[in-house]
Order: sequence, then structure tokens, then C-alpha cells
Amino acid sequence: MTPTPPLPDPAELIVGLCRQFYDLGWVSGTGGGVSVRENGRIWIAPSGVQKERMTAGDIFVTDDEGRILRAPAREDLKLSACTPLFLHAYRLRQAGAVIHSHGMHALLATLAFDRVLRVTHLEMMKGITGLGYHDELVVPIIENTAHECDLADAMADAMRAHPASHAVLVRRHGVYIWGRDWVAAKTHAECYHYLFEAAVRMVSLGFDPAKAPHSAPRPEEARDARELVGQR
Ligand SMILES: [Zn+2]
Repeated sequence: MTPTPPLPDPAELIVGLCRQFYDLGWVSGTGGGVSVRENGRIWIAPSGVQKERMTAGDIFVTDDEGRILRAPAREDLKLSACTPLFLHAYRLRQAGAVIHSHGMHALLATLAFDRVLRVTHLEMMKGITGLGYHDELVVPIIENTAHECDLADAMADAMRAHPASHAVLVRRHGVYIWGRDWVAAKTHAECYHYLFEAAVRMVSLGFDPAKAPHSAPRPEEARDARELVGQR
């Protein structure tokens, strides 16, 4: 049996993820952020830095209340302005990691939808915990504010109103996405970004992403069909 690989060091993990997310356009121009929680401690990338050029020594470590336990040696680095929003995902959703992205399709999706984004019958929905192909994916959209920290209350309200969602979109800004651990958060982030792009493209092509296709059987019809085939 293959032994379970050791968990990566959270600071090194954040450095690696930020390099990947930079290449995807999620954390360019010093925007966005990544945080990981492990054993009651929270690792957070600093604000306002080139996210693809950070080192493990640049990562802040805080307790569950966001109080700094370890600050980077570089005195010019500041704790992320996203920290109160990351803490909501840890407190309200028991997240193990949170990704804040300024991805272009997350932003465009907030212009294509009003209060919530809705899509259905898209294969990549199956990558979101709790969802299947025939379900409806619903992501709340909150209004942007001049300062990132001022989003915290609206994000908490949206999380409480949409307990099945693992993401909150921010109008003309981006998205916060979380998961039970860093692997789930990364998987969710990849699937959500794919689905945001699909939704935006579908709207621009004249399709309603929230509408089930005529040819798609409802779950009970699919079950009936399987039973009929089994009877033959
Ligand atoms: Zn932001």
C-alpha cells in the first residue's frame, strides 16, 4: 500500500498555490489571496505584494481570531485586508482553506446576473461538494465596497442565506471560494471559475444557463427509463 504523502508545509503550500493562481490570472496585480487553516492556526498571504514572487517567510500566521502569531521579517508586509472574510469561512463554514480570486470570469459573471448566479446541467458542477449534474448551482453576489474589509458583514449574511454554496461572488471585483481542506478549496476554485466562464459565454450566446435543456430527463424520468431497460 502506498503511504499517505505528508501534508505540505502551509506556508510553502500558499507560495506554490499563488504561483499557479497567478498564471491563471486570479491573483495578478497584487490582488487576490490564499489562506490555509491547520490545527487552530491560520496561514495568510500578505496584502499588496507580487503574489507569484512570495517566499514562505512572507506568510503571516494568526490564531482563530486573526491575531498575529508570526509576522514576516520584512516590515513592509501587511496582514491581508481579506483576513476578516477568510475568518468568516473558517468560523461559519468550518473551511480548511480559502481562495480569493480576481479572475476575469468571476467579475463578468457578477454583471451577467443580479443577486445570485444560477446554472444547471453542466458537467463541472459535479466538482462542487454536494452537487450533481441535474442540480442547480446557486452562488450569491454581494455588492463591492471601497475597502475589502467592509465586505465582511455582507459576506457573512450571504453565507448564512446560502448554506449550500462554497463561494460568494463580489460585484465588479471577484470571488471568495473555500473547501474543507486546501485540496477541496482548489478543486472548488477550478470548477467555479470554469462554470463562471461557461455561464458568461452561454449568456452572450443567448442561452439561459439556469434553464434545463429540453432533452435532459428529470431525475425521476431517468430512473423510470433505467427500470424499463432492466425489465427487458
Ligand atoms: Zn479582492
